[in-house]
Amino acid sequence: MFNSLFKKTLTDILPKVRGKYLKNVPLSKHTWFGVGGPAEVMFIPEDLEDLSHFLLRRPYNVPICLIGGGSNLLIRDGGIPGVVIKLDSPYFRQIKVNENSITCFAGLKNIDLKKILLNEELGGLEFLCSIPGCIGGSIKTNAGCFGKCIKDVLLCATIVDGNGEVKEILPDDLQLSYRNSLFPDDWIIVSITLKTEKSTKEQINKILEEQKEYRIKNQPYNEKTAGSTFKNPEGLRAWELIKKSGCADLHIGGAKVSEKHCNFLINTGKASAADIETLGDTIVKKVKEQTSITLEWEVKKMGINK
Ligand SMILES: Cc1cc2nc3c(=O)[nH]c(=O)nc-3n(C[C@H](O)[C@H](O)[C@H](O)COP(=O)(O)OP(=O)(O)OC[C@H]3O[C@@H](n4cnc5c(N)ncnc54)[C@H](O)[C@@H]3O)c2cc1C
Repeated sequence: MFNSLFKKTLTDILPKVRGKYLKNVPLSKHTWFGVGGPAEVMFIPEDLEDLSHFLLRRPYNVPICLIGGGSNLLIRDGGIPGVVIKLDSPYFRQIKVNENSITCFAGLKNIDLKKILLNEELGGLEFLCSIPGCIGGSIKTNAGCFGKCIKDVLLCATIVDGNGEVKEILPDDLQLSYRNSLFPDDWIIVSITLKTEKSTKEQINKILEEQKEYRIKNQPYNEKTAGSTFKNPEGLRAWELIKKSGCADLHIGGAKVSEKHCNFLINTGKASAADIETLGDTIVKKVKEQTSITLEWEVKKMGINK
């Protein structure tokens, strides 16, 4: 009885913040795959000062990690111990239009850029509107499509480090490359400034429509997926290797390879994260056996098994 009366929970030892601490949050509701166990605590900071204060004052033995829109994540069934930070308050969804550039905060959904681009007649960022997820995650993964990626349009960024220190940085500091970045693990992207070009509503709409059509035709749409599962090895295409290795119709539990694009894995409705991970690992093994090439996961795996 004394034990339970005096036992401290994680939130008891976390610093006082103005944002929210939510306990035992099912992460399946925060990922496009629709799988994943709970976050022990989810922290939604009110603003940058609140986030910085948390980072400076938090107990250093408590693990922290960050999620964005959850469109590139496979969170395991046992969930994530410690604190999962999500930049989901209005402060982190701001967008500011400058001359020849826009500044987007990390929690802004990529798709919400669309309205601004059309209203302000700004081109050059249409590709980003078609990528699921938020700005912060798109920097981390150097997201790209239709021949363009974040690296091509990034002018500068603001980050906060693990000690709560806010820094302005240049693109080179993030070391962006194909679906990758090599900045320190404890850096959190707060906002980024992206280059824009003058355009017209008609031209922007035309590009957005063409991109949408392409995706509907070539990729699974309205499915529980996290996009391309594996990176394309240099000079090759992951989907071709998967097909060639006889993996195009593999399924495990409730997880299957998409019939439309075999580099996409699908949760058919009842998949566990373990089903999806086992399916992905099976593909890696078969492709290695058949082609001697080791596919690298593009989807980020987080958390612990059940
Ligand atoms: C249907 C579909 C199609 C897709 N098509 C494409 C495509 O064409 N091109 C492409 O590149 N990707 C594509 N993706 C993958 C995904 O949408 C992108 O990788 C996206 O940029 C991830 O953003 P997110 O906010 O969802 O990040 P999350 O998936 O939540 O997180 C991804 C990584 O970013 C980190 N992160 C998140 N926010 C921050 C931050 N503020 N600071 C530091 N790190 C952070 C997380 O810790 C994690 O490591 C697709 C996904 C789906 C479901």
